[in-house]
Amino acid sequence: MDHFNDIVFTKYYFYLTTRKCNYSKLMPEVLDVGKLEKYITTGHKEPLSFVPFHHDAPVERFMMLNSAMVPDCNTRISVHQVSDLPDEITPYCELHKHDFDEINLIISEDDHLVYRIQMEDEVFVVHSPASVFIPKGVRHSSEVISGKGSFICITLQGKYAATS
Ligand SMILES: [Zn+2]
Repeated sequence: MDHFNDIVFTKYYFYLTTRKCNYSKLMPEVLDVGKLEKYITTGHKEPLSFVPFHHDAPVERFMMLNSAMVPDCNTRISVHQVSDLPDEITPYCELHKHDFDEINLIISEDDHLVYRIQMEDEVFVVHSPASVFIPKGVRHSSEVISGKGSFICITLQGKYAATS
């Protein structure tokens, strides 16, 4: 029973701190918080080489959201943190395409994160802050060149699939 109360309290406290609501008014709704809890998930480290057409890279990759983590979810988001690049970076992303759109966000505190973005036969050197919209069917690759920051990959489908 104590354990149950702890869970209820934790959920309720979270509800209060996120909603800043009145305690007594909300008390009967405490258990409703649990219905939506499944939509909050914890990111986990996953090597880039797990992804078809990608190989190990000098980035720390976190899988943040996909349909395996949240079955209702129609979007997949991974975050690649770049902090300590080696002098030479071996190419790690092969040209590939999807039948869903993809968005890349290149973000850095000091605006010095630089990525090489290829779409079909066009190659771009892209500096943070920037976004890249990759329409479905466009062959592409994204690889870090220099700097520090975050590369966020969003695909508008919860489950990843790619072809060459
Ligand atoms: Zn892709």
